[in-house]
Amino acid sequence: MTTAQQTVVVTGANGFIAQHCVLALLRAGFRVRGTVRSATKAAHLKSIVNRSTELRDQLELVEAHLERDEAWHTVMRGAHHVLHVASPFPATLPANENDLIVPATEGTRRVLRAASAAGVRRVVVTSSIAAIVHGAPGEHVETYDESHWTVPTKGTDAYVKSKTLAERAAWDFVERLPPGEQLELVIINPGSVLGPTLDDNCTTSLIGVRKLLSGRAPGAPRFGNAVVDVRDVARMHLSALTTPQAAGQRFICAGDFAWLVDIARLLDRHFGGRGYPVPTREVPNWLVRLITAFDRSTWGLVHHLDQRREVSHERAFRIFGWKPRPLEETVVATGASLISREMV
Ligand code: NDP
Repeated sequence: MTTAQQTVVVTGANGFIAQHCVLALLRAGFRVRGTVRSATKAAHLKSIVNRSTELRDQLELVEAHLERDEAWHTVMRGAHHVLHVASPFPATLPANENDLIVPATEGTRRVLRAASAAGVRRVVVTSSIAAIVHGAPGEHVETYDESHWTVPTKGTDAYVKSKTLAERAAWDFVERLPPGEQLELVIINPGSVLGPTLDDNCTTSLIGVRKLLSGRAPGAPRFGNAVVDVRDVARMHLSALTTPQAAGQRFICAGDFAWLVDIARLLDRHFGGRGYPVPTREVPNWLVRLITAFDRSTWGLVHHLDQRREVSHERAFRIFGWKPRPLEETVVATGASLISREMV
């Protein structure tokens, strides 16, 4: 069967990562059925796709919610593959952790149940390195790989729990499928995703860069992560769909670790002289904690101050030949897209 005859469902198709996946799939010749939560979001995504490709007729959009059963069986009808990208990724911590955990885990089960009932062959789930790098308290790991798992404890933040429990739910689901109803599961575990945004909705992972470029941060908190470009994340999702040996495996999708101050220095070097001076000093941790008390959008940082966690993408290189582009290229593309969309 040619790609033009194959339909790929993309959940949360209007999100930052999923938009790039949709475009990559269309350009590779697939038909895409995206899920969104409203007609407004469908119209918005269609306008982005119209701007970027002639292949808009290959895209259809359906409304579906992770916390509701209805629609998922219709969504999966006739589909060959699924990219399950949707999951709550809010900028502020909800009062109740179940606001993230329930849609993430139950939503993943719903998508897999409907996919399996419709005879879908392969489902690729977008997890996170958050499901890998927060091991048992006191655990010391030089470089994390796909054999490592986060161990959620009472103090683990809700987002990290939601990603870990949703990925566990996916593996448990496929392990329990009876013979004859089996589908292939592939998990992608991205690091902190930067890169060009295709619209002016600022996803959570771009907030730090936006604040630095806007001059709204006194400096860079001592926070860091393994970074990856959204275009490389989309590329790996496509490889995960089409590479037979990927079945039953998880793949770290991230490049080198970078402190936020490293990113600030790159931004300043490229945009400082163009009227966007970027603070290039580190803010002491006590000041970050004080700011967080008034600005909940920095919640993601406080749990992870001072923590350096390296990851290996050796498996993705070996199986997909995947390599991340240089950090500088990603940071410059992020800054340029935020500036051109007047988001800073
Ligand atoms: P976005 O917030 O841009 O996209 C999330 C998508 O999920 C949106 O389409 C959103 O819909 C949808 N969604 C959220 N909750 C629900 C729900 N209850 N029912 C249906 N759809 C829902 O985030 P990203 O593109 O950055 O992230 C996409 C995925 O990648 C997530 O699973 C995230 O955890 C994961 N990830 C992201 C990283 C990053 O740094 N960006 C790093 C590692 C993993 P709506 O627009 O209506 O809210």
